[in-house]
Amino acid sequence: MKDRFGREINYLRISLTDRCNLRCVYCMPMHGLTFVPNDELLSAAEIETVVRAAVEVGFRKVRLTGGEPTLRTDIVEIVERIAGVNGIEQIAMTTNGYRLPYIAHDLKKAGLTRVNIHVDSLNKETLGKIMRLGSLDKAWAGIEAAEAAGLTPIKLNAVITRGYNDDAAAELAELSLRRPWQIRFIELMPFGGPTEIQLHHYVSSDEVKSWIEQKLGPLFPINNGHLDGEARVYRLAGAEGTVGFISPVSNPYCDDCNRMRLTADGRLRMCLLVEGEINFQKTLRNGGSHTELVSLFEKAVLAKPVGHQLKNGQFAENRTMSQIGG
Ligand code: SAM
Ligand code: SF4
Repeated sequence: MKDRFGREINYLRISLTDRCNLRCVYCMPMHGLTFVPNDELLSAAEIETVVRAAVEVGFRKVRLTGGEPTLRTDIVEIVERIAGVNGIEQIAMTTNGYRLPYIAHDLKKAGLTRVNIHVDSLNKETLGKIMRLGSLDKAWAGIEAAEAAGLTPIKLNAVITRGYNDDAAAELAELSLRRPWQIRFIELMPFGGPTEIQLHHYVSSDEVKSWIEQKLGPLFPINNGHLDGEARVYRLAGAEGTVGFISPVSNPYCDDCNRMRLTADGRLRMCLLVEGEINFQKTLRNGGSHTELVSLFEKAVLAKPVGHQLKNGQFAENRTMSQIGG
């Protein structure tokens, strides 16, 4: 289904939980957090019901995220249920990877297509500084488990945060020389009463790209400069993999946005960076029919805003990235 601005909306990102086993500096504080109570989270069956309705308005691709989606003990069942919905062509997951050594094969068998794994540095000390409870060994074991299970092509996500992991850009990009992975750099975004780090430690994609080129040589655009999802993609000379830049702040891709986000407590968010939401959980729990859910999706597609307004200083105040689903 197309929205009011002619964009085909076909990609649903589903947050499975707002909880996480890590506390990345730009995402979650170490203490004082409150989480959605378990009985407020959509169950595996409710998620399947929502996906069945989404397919009717043209959604074809699902991404599971969070918080940390692998913390859900019913994660394999969730994937299996979504994979069983006729019309779903791809199920991906964004994860810190720590639980993948235990579940990657089961996820693949259940129908998961591929994963994006989050690692902000290849240096243990730097990783500890930025991902706080993070461990390079665990992230690496997760990447290897994903590859062994065939959850490919692998994409790695990093957020370069000034003063925390500046050195990581070239180190991570270098991995693309010998691995068939896409190394992606996501610009730091402000959320939910933006934090000091989000406002003052932002580094633009252009700056990250220049740091990489200074160390590793030119990055050549591929795809004729077209977006791969939300990333602008490049390749270093002779590299097996690629380097992507996701630039929601410096170079927004709102004109090409094809996605919506379902929060872990069942609110459909039309834009990551704009506050409006539609309460699917309420309709589900009041015994709403399939037809009612389909019309909620239609209403949502028509209500999708043209884009975010960060350039005008407008931030979404009502939720953080981990609460919406990254
Ligand atoms: N826990 C999983 C992970 O870390 O990949 C999934 C959720 S996490 C919110 C998804 C992605 O969002 C991660 O790559 C993380 O670095 C990124 N992220 C978190 N907060 C962000 C922010 N304020 N701006 C930009 N990216 C952010
Ligand atoms: Fe957890 Fe992902 Fe947020 Fe890091 S970015 S604290 S791994 S949800």
